[in-house]
Amino acid sequence: MTDTFEAKGKRKKLVAELRQKGISDEDVLRAIDIVPRHLFMDPAFFNHAYVDKAFPIASGQTISQPYTVAVQSSLLHVKKRDKILEIGTGSGYQAAILAHMGARVYTIERFRELFIKAQVTLGSLGYKIDFFYGDGYEGKPQYGPYDGIIITAAPPEVPKKLLQQLKIGGRLVTPLGSSGSQVMTVVVRTGEDNFEYSEHGNFIFVPMLKGTVNGK
Ligand code: SAH
Repeated sequence: MTDTFEAKGKRKKLVAELRQKGISDEDVLRAIDIVPRHLFMDPAFFNHAYVDKAFPIASGQTISQPYTVAVQSSLLHVKKRDKILEIGTGSGYQAAILAHMGARVYTIERFRELFIKAQVTLGSLGYKIDFFYGDGYEGKPQYGPYDGIIITAAPPEVPKKLLQQLKIGGRLVTPLGSSGSQVMTVVVRTGEDNFEYSEHGNFIFVPMLKGTVNGK
């Protein structure tokens, strides 16, 4: 599977739609314009790849809606060379967007099947990303501290261990809440023990669950 003129045209339309919905971060829009989202989904669903909707991938999970990816990526305030930890690799699409924006991406997935699949996809697209199979509640302290942490599944509350892996001045972006609808929340670490919270609208995510899943 490769990129095509048809896909490029559909991405331009998607970017215009995201602008209309209020996304204004040009680095984020450029990444969405360039990263071929259809290659992160089953080829049979090409027609769904550039619609602004979440879509099922393997292991009962979803590739996030483009608007949601755009909002989270904007809220992270990514600068080139920033070290970013992502919880919930899923299809790998969000990780590719961040890598495209110049971040050094470390990403954790609890389903082995998705962890393996995302590496194949991102490897074939030439992105250099560090993948880990494990429980995102633990984070990856050995590679931290991070300029940014993005959680792409919803925890009931901000995982304490992740806050400890943020640099001072670093930002953690996560949906917060139990099933149904969650509130997009940004936590900025303003000091060793100081954290500032802000809220950025309602979204729907799969839950952030503890432990790992080895089989299908
Ligand atoms: N960023 C992904 C979104 C995938 S959906 C994308 O762009 O496609 C959220 C993902 O979070 C799922 O794959 C789910 O398995 C994973 N997840 C949920 N809880 C987790 C945890 N504790 N640790 C790591 N990954 C987790």
